[in-house]
Amino acid sequence: MATSRRPGSGPAITAPESLLALKRRARRINRALAEKYPYAHAELDFRNPFELVVATVLSAQTTDVLVNQVTKILFARYPDARAMSEADPAELEAILQPTGFFRAKTRNVLALSTRLVDEYDGVVPGRLEDLVTLPGVGRKTANVVLGNAFGVPGITVDTHFGRLARRFGWTTSEDPVQIEFDVAELFELRDWTMLSHRVVFHGRRVCHSRKPACGACPVANWCPSYGLGETDPVKAAKLLKYELAPGSEILLERLFAETHRAAEIRMESQRRLP
Ligand code: SF4
Repeated sequence: MATSRRPGSGPAITAPESLLALKRRARRINRALAEKYPYAHAELDFRNPFELVVATVLSAQTTDVLVNQVTKILFARYPDARAMSEADPAELEAILQPTGFFRAKTRNVLALSTRLVDEYDGVVPGRLEDLVTLPGVGRKTANVVLGNAFGVPGITVDTHFGRLARRFGWTTSEDPVQIEFDVAELFELRDWTMLSHRVVFHGRRVCHSRKPACGACPVANWCPSYGLGETDPVKAAKLLKYELAPGSEILLERLFAETHRAAEIRMESQRRLP
C-alpha cells in the first residue's frame, strides 16, 4: 500500500501500489538516504576479509564501537587465521570478554580460524555458499563480508534493516532471508551494499525502534509509516542520535569531510585481496 500525501497533510490516502511504483518509491528513498548519509559505511574497522569476518562474528549482541576497541588488541596479537587458530583459548576469552557471550565467541573464532587454515589455506573464501559453512557465520555475516571486503553486492538484513524495510513497505516479512529477497527485487545489484549501510545508518539515527523521529526524517515524503513516531519537527529533532543529535554539528562536518576517505578505505581493503 502506498501513501499519496506529504508529511503533516492529514491522514494517508491508501491505494494499491504496483511493483513499478514500489520500485520507484524505494529508489527515491535510497537516493534521499544517499544525500543524507554520503559518509555511510561499514561501522566495523577492518583491513582485510579475515578481520572483517571475525569482527562481524564478534558484533553479535554488542556495539560496533566496542568491537572496534577489542579487535584493535585482538589483531595486534593474532594478525591472521593461522595465528588465531593457535591462540590459547583462555587468553582469547580474556580479550573477547568485553563483547559479551565471550565463551561462545571464543569457540567460534577458534573454530572459524582452524577451518580457514585447514580448508582454505588460511584465506577467507569469497563465495556465499562457502562463507555460510564457517562456524559462527550466517547469511548476514556472509553478506557483510562479501559486500565490504570483496566488493560483491550483498543486502545485509540486521534488526534495523528488517524494521525499516517493513516500515517502508518493501516487505511484510519478519524472516531475514525473505526480507533480503523482497528488497533485492526492488534495487539494482550494484546498489545493494550501500543501500544496506544507509538503511542501517537511518535506523540507528532517525527511525528508531520505539521512537522514530518522523518530523525530522529525510524520507518522510515517501514513507507509508510517517506518523508512527513524533511528527513535530522541534520535538523530533531532539530524538536524533549520533552526528545528527542536537549539538553534534562538528562531528557531522567531520564525517562529511571524511566521506571521500571512507570510500578510499573500502577500496583499499578490496585492493588487498589475494
Ligand atoms: S522516521 Fe517515520 S517517516 Fe521516517 S522512515 Fe521512520 S517511520 Fe518513516
